[in-house]
Amino acid sequence: MRPARALIDLQALRHNYQLAREVTGAKALAVIKADAYGHGAVRVAQALETEADGFAVACIEEALELRAAGIRAPVLLLEGFFEASELPLIIEHDFWCVVHSLWQLEAIEQARLSKPLTVWLKLDSGMHRVGLHPKDYHEAYQRLLASGKVAKIVLMSHFARADELDCVSSDEQVAVFDAARQGLSAEVSLRNSPSVMGWPAVGSDWVRPGIMLYGATPFGEDQAIAARLQPVMTLESKVICVRELPAGEPVGYGAKFVTPKPMRIGVVAMGYADGYPRHAPTGTPVLVAGQRSQLLGRVSMDMLCIDLTDVPQAGLGSTVELWGKNILASDVAAAAETIPYQIFCNLRRVPRLYCGA
Ligand SMILES: *Cc1c(COP(=O)(O)O)cnc(C)c1O
Repeated sequence: MRPARALIDLQALRHNYQLAREVTGAKALAVIKADAYGHGAVRVAQALETEADGFAVACIEEALELRAAGIRAPVLLLEGFFEASELPLIIEHDFWCVVHSLWQLEAIEQARLSKPLTVWLKLDSGMHRVGLHPKDYHEAYQRLLASGKVAKIVLMSHFARADELDCVSSDEQVAVFDAARQGLSAEVSLRNSPSVMGWPAVGSDWVRPGIMLYGATPFGEDQAIAARLQPVMTLESKVICVRELPAGEPVGYGAKFVTPKPMRIGVVAMGYADGYPRHAPTGTPVLVAGQRSQLLGRVSMDMLCIDLTDVPQAGLGSTVELWGKNILASDVAAAAETIPYQIFCNLRRVPRLYCGA
């Protein structure tokens, strides 16, 4: 059997969820969209179900997968519905629904609903992705109330730059949000992971942690709460071939690496078809036989090469950690000029094994 696998530590996941609650004192929706950032949405939801205040996903397809697996907790659809025809299912399964656009508001006004909806009314406070314009916000709130089709409204917005700790943009967004909701008495929800971790003064009855649940930092620098996260996924495989090369020999596609001296090379069963980033360059950290080493040359579809020259205890069959408790996914992502969010979401083909249930 191919030795590539992703170990998912559900105990670490619960620790990170509790940390989000502890540092904010707020209710927390665990964001498990995109198959829980590659960690497996159903298993993650089951592991958190007794403690989580609810879950958040990107669309009704993801929400229905949770209900089909028996998850009864509240589930928020972060982009609401894409077509009004989803409304009966939203009602039937008690999903909570973001309203980010006037067309969604109109669809609710026109719908025949058998029960009232819970709506999270989203404001565009400056990110300019989705969300109602501040000038429309009050009226949208009043129209939802007047429709008689809504049981509860939560006021929400989303930060564009909370991962930049010395940037004023988040404060400006809070000011826009506070101005737009003046006079409305409803619960509010603003905070994603970087805001939960780095912006303690932001008020939010509900927080929406995603990446931090999985134990990866959204910041490009050291940060106090990031240091308390526990990595959840360990992506590992084994050395399947070892070779000794003299100086001056190329390694892998394109001869992107040429041995500067006699070297011992290990070939690992892991490649970009597993989601390991193809753009990770020579020097990207790995752990082999318990010792830090580095990637060499280009990542192939199913294999990659690492340096065993100074790891004499490593050989055929040695375990390699690509990321996990020792090699941080955020460091691998940075080396590949991307973010841990993307390398987690890209995981595929690799079987996931769960522990700490
Ligand atoms: C994805 C998402 C989150 C979670 O973001 P993280 O940075 O992973 O914590 C929160 N809110 C909304 C609206 C999202 O789309």
